[in-house]
Amino acid sequence: MLSTMQDVPLTVTRILHHGMTIHGSSQVTTWTGGSEPERRSFAEVGARATRLAGALRDELGVGADERVATLMWNNADHLEAYLAVPSMGAILHTLNLRLPAEQLIWIVNHAADRVVIANGSLLPLLAPLLPHLPTVEHVVVSGPGDRAPLDAVTGQGRVRVHEYEELIAGRPATFDWPELDERAGAAMCYTSGTTGDPKGVVYSHRSIYLHSMQANMGESMGLTDRDTTLIVVPQFHVNAWGLPHATFMVGVNMLMPDRFLQPAPLAEMIETERPTHAAAVPTLWQGLLAEVTERPRDLTSMARVTIGGSACPPALMAAYDKLGVRLCHAWGMTETSPLGTTSNPPSGLTADEEWPYRITQGRFPAGVEARLAGPGGDFLPWDGESAGELEVRGPWIAGAYYGGAGAEPFRPEDRFSPDGWLRTGDVGVISPDGYLTLTDRAKDVIKSGGEWISSVALENALMAHPEVAEAAVVAVPDEKWGERPLATVVLKDGAAPDYAALKEFLAGSIAKWQLPERWAVVRAVPKTSVGKFDKKVIRKQYAEGELEVTLV
Ligand code: ADP
Repeated sequence: MLSTMQDVPLTVTRILHHGMTIHGSSQVTTWTGGSEPERRSFAEVGARATRLAGALRDELGVGADERVATLMWNNADHLEAYLAVPSMGAILHTLNLRLPAEQLIWIVNHAADRVVIANGSLLPLLAPLLPHLPTVEHVVVSGPGDRAPLDAVTGQGRVRVHEYEELIAGRPATFDWPELDERAGAAMCYTSGTTGDPKGVVYSHRSIYLHSMQANMGESMGLTDRDTTLIVVPQFHVNAWGLPHATFMVGVNMLMPDRFLQPAPLAEMIETERPTHAAAVPTLWQGLLAEVTERPRDLTSMARVTIGGSACPPALMAAYDKLGVRLCHAWGMTETSPLGTTSNPPSGLTADEEWPYRITQGRFPAGVEARLAGPGGDFLPWDGESAGELEVRGPWIAGAYYGGAGAEPFRPEDRFSPDGWLRTGDVGVISPDGYLTLTDRAKDVIKSGGEWISSVALENALMAHPEVAEAAVVAVPDEKWGERPLATVVLKDGAAPDYAALKEFLAGSIAKWQLPERWAVVRAVPKTSVGKFDKKVIRKQYAEGELEVTLV
């Protein structure tokens, strides 16, 4: 029997209309680095998004399914593109401005972007790429920054340059939004390439709508119009974890840092704008912690913080607890929109009892089914002990990549099971009550004499040492064991390396056979474009003899 319910498509257009009317007075505040941040109401954002859609269609000729890329920081103009482009039936393609030039060129050409909306401050990055981007016909420039870098390119006549404000000024306040299929593409992101070439994921209207609803549930981020969220995770990284669409849907005020992502301005914006929530990767919170330890600031408004993208060291969580800020761990990936798990402990526990739950990656919501695949292809029990590769399935999980994969040899069957589950490449265990603990990425786990050593467990233990600022552990070849861990550590100012003492410290929580015998002090852990430890680079540095390794 068919249901008797209405079949109304779930679209970004609906989020736009709802947010700009019902929550019209909520605010988007963009940090400018000057004395006054820029403030825009949701009603204004919606009206400007409407004009932007009109301009893109009527002036630039953007049609259905065409890709409109953004090369932008987190700010209100970027949010307008987030709402306008999908709602008009085109595809929003957010470009990661931290990628090396060759990767950006590869990605834009692979997606065949027709328009790039770019922040003025990023033109020095964009201009030299344009001659290599044959599909790009229009550049729309938003916000402050010298326009001169584009002069050479516009001289060639192929690319037309527009000013964002001029383009939307004087345009009609209405737009005849198309009726969209909820399964149609709305936005696309490429993975940041931590473990290989970037791969494109195309989100649908339906997946964004359902993911937004999940993000707004209490078991995930659960924000309301009483909250202000500081969105530090870039809008070019998995749609800022889905926050812009989710928060526009329910009227959560947004605080956008624009290009001011250094610890000092972040501390200042938290103290003065008093957000109640924030979202960013662990390395960012490490940096902010160092800043406020040196120059104390009041962070207490920010009662809750969503942290993910890589494993959050428990020591970091404990340090923020002392500042009155509760870090809540979440796991996800570009392919999962990204909300997979969120680590809210079950109810009714004391702070001590909550701790073992808080340091897991968290629980799956109803929209994400999970299973663990063992080495032999069998599925493992949720007993908190059996470690396997995590596979997931759900309405906001990718089932394929856009146009195949990158230049690196890639077999779709490595990422998607024959019955349609996403193979995440993450290795972990699940407890009987559904909490996921990741022990490693399949590519980072250290395979020592037939046993696995978790690089993440070693890193977390090292980062709990008072003199260690950061630590990254990678597998290096070993004649006897196949692979052994190499520990690279960044020491706090003034500390001298005492490897024997560090090893002794690790022995307090790590099995003896897992302790690293190769050690190196580094000035900084190399990071990827989205702030994760770049283990490919560390392995290369080791292989090329660039690290001063001590055997202990
Ligand atoms: P890339 O795969 O290019 O790094 P993503 O941003 O999609 O780009 O990264 C997803 C990966 O990040 C996950 O597969 C996982 O390995 C890691 N990750 C994300 N969140 C967490 C977390 N809370 N704990 C540990 N690892 C995480």
